[in-house]
Amino acid sequence: MNILIFGPNGSGKGTQGSLAKKKFDLDHIESGAIFRKHIGGGTELGLKAKAFIDKGELVPDDITIPMVLDVLKNSSANGWLLDGFPRSIVQAEKLWDALQKDGVKLDYVIEILLPREVAKARIMGRRLCATDPNHPNNIGIAAIAPDGDKCRVCGGALTARADDQDENAIDKRHNIYYDTKTGTLAAAYFYKDKAAEAGFKYIELNGEGSIDEIKEFLISQLA
Ligand SMILES: [Zn+2]
Repeated sequence: MNILIFGPNGSGKGTQGSLAKKKFDLDHIESGAIFRKHIGGGTELGLKAKAFIDKGELVPDDITIPMVLDVLKNSSANGWLLDGFPRSIVQAEKLWDALQKDGVKLDYVIEILLPREVAKARIMGRRLCATDPNHPNNIGIAAIAPDGDKCRVCGGALTARADDQDENAIDKRHNIYYDTKTGTLAAAYFYKDKAAEAGFKYIELNGEGSIDEIKEFLISQLA
């Protein structure tokens, strides 16, 4: 079972992705891990990638794509869930060509739909419980709104992560994601257009539902 997942930062992509991953016992492959494996492992591709990163430049697709393919090919026999790649239409096309060439079948492509302003409000609304970081609190989501300024689960003190309050960084990431011409949504739509003809299922999740609603719908869609 091979799955691609798309969703903006703030959409709960990690949560929904792990659901699909668990259901089929897949390897969860996210872009950061691909770089860590190759750069940390000192592979030839990793050394090339590092040279660009050290100069503060983006790693070109002709280095990134072979790294992605290598990790996909070496994943467990059950298959993989690829998360955080492709990010652009060019990467989407190149990944597609490479998968075709290697005879790798895609089974599902999942897109979590969420309006940009909602995604931003959810990121900025996240609050961390001092007692247990797994206690969900978000001032932007009614179902998990904190109890005043305390954790809704245990009453512990809440803080906001500095990263979550960095509007510039959020906007920068969302500029890439929500770009329907050349960015990540363009990549998602590229796969949406291919789905019927290529024989994989394109699943659209309404990211505005509750986590449980989205989970239930996703389970019903993954046959
Ligand atoms: Zn708590």
